[in-house]
Amino acid sequence: MKSSYDFAILGGGIAGVSAAYFLSKTAKVALIEREPSWGFHASGRSAAVFIEAYDNFILSDLTLDSKDFFINPDPEFSESPIVQPLGGVTVFRPDELEQAQSYLTHWQTRCPSLRLIDQSDAVSLIPILKAEAIAGAIYDPNLLSIDTHQLLQCMLRGVRKHGGQLFCGIDSEPRITLHNIWEIDVGKVSVRAPVLINAAGAWANEVALMTGQQPLPLTPARRTAAVIKVPGGAPDWPMLKTFNQQLYVKPEQPGLLVSPQDETPSAAADAYPDELDLAVAIERFEKLCEFSVSRIHRSWAGLRTLTPDRRPVLGFANTEEKFFWIAGQGGAGIQTAPALGRIAADALIHGAAISSQLDPCRFARADDVSA
Ligand SMILES: Cc1cc2nc3c(=O)[nH]c(=O)nc-3n(C[C@H](O)[C@H](O)[C@H](O)COP(=O)(O)OP(=O)(O)OC[C@H]3O[C@@H](n4cnc5c(N)ncnc54)[C@H](O)[C@@H]3O)c2cc1C
Repeated sequence: MKSSYDFAILGGGIAGVSAAYFLSKTAKVALIEREPSWGFHASGRSAAVFIEAYDNFILSDLTLDSKDFFINPDPEFSESPIVQPLGGVTVFRPDELEQAQSYLTHWQTRCPSLRLIDQSDAVSLIPILKAEAIAGAIYDPNLLSIDTHQLLQCMLRGVRKHGGQLFCGIDSEPRITLHNIWEIDVGKVSVRAPVLINAAGAWANEVALMTGQQPLPLTPARRTAAVIKVPGGAPDWPMLKTFNQQLYVKPEQPGLLVSPQDETPSAAADAYPDELDLAVAIERFEKLCEFSVSRIHRSWAGLRTLTPDRRPVLGFANTEEKFFWIAGQGGAGIQTAPALGRIAADALIHGAAISSQLDPCRFARADDVSA
């Protein structure tokens, strides 16, 4: 049996789910995920934080554009906010003071709440910090924690309510017909749609190759997280980060989540933590904090998919066969998901223009790659 839709979306992580949510408000959508559950890969393994001054101004714009959706969700979408205040403390060493000051000058134009705090203020916010290891910190009062599970579930409920179809646990191979209609077998039914949306995360290039499209310069990179137990459970502290991006620590039950901020290029696969990355995380944590780790409570790894300019790809690379990309969000795919999903829907339904900074074709233009 054939079933016709306006859009078929491959990938049930936050990118595909968010696009499905916004598109399904006015269009007929089929969302197809290979794994038996939604958000099984990167989207279910993130640190789940919202950081306005993230990586570059494009990611920051997309993050700021998503903020209201998280803080003031439509009551029909969610009765409670998707985010909670957390705050962030980025510590720097004496030799990093100048760099920290220029970082502030660069970011304060759009994130005016960022401010320098001294060593003792940092220690009073995070009492286990070793004062002698730092010269000061940048305080971010706007850093938020995101309830990713709630976000995914509310969006999926929205898709169902709007009449969208969800297919989970389906290993599919899309093919294009002579009339440029995509066909995807999902069990006994064959989904047909004029537009295929590739939201397959680390597998986005695999999907491109399997459908005869040009792959893009996307690099899946492993990131590791370990949770350690703390007496009394997760403390009421802000997130701790090092200025040189070697470590972050976030309150997470039953204690603290610690990441060495690794970025190891990896094949698209179900990622597992490497023992060495876990050991590095604990070593860096113990060097910066007065806390001895006797054992890791649990650990995991996930793939963040990077582009050469660390900006996502959003849009058509092949307008004839209508193959639309949402990929390469790096470490910001959760915090930018509402904006990316909404921009995709505005473009696909109303023909709204997408910023050339996100254009999947930009990598063909050599001068744009190294921004
Ligand atoms: C440790 C870690 C910490 C992070 N912290 C943060 C953070 O604090 N804040 C933030 O915003 N972001 C964070 N990120 C990044 C964020 O998790 C990703 O950017 C985001 O989840 C990417 O979403 P996605 O939907 O593109 O990919 P995924 O969640 O990986 O989803 C892609 C889906 O496509 C499916 N798929 C693949 N091939 C097919 C196929 N042929 N057919 C059907 N389905 C297919 C896969 O099974 C997968 O479920 C973090 C990531 C990691 C790993």
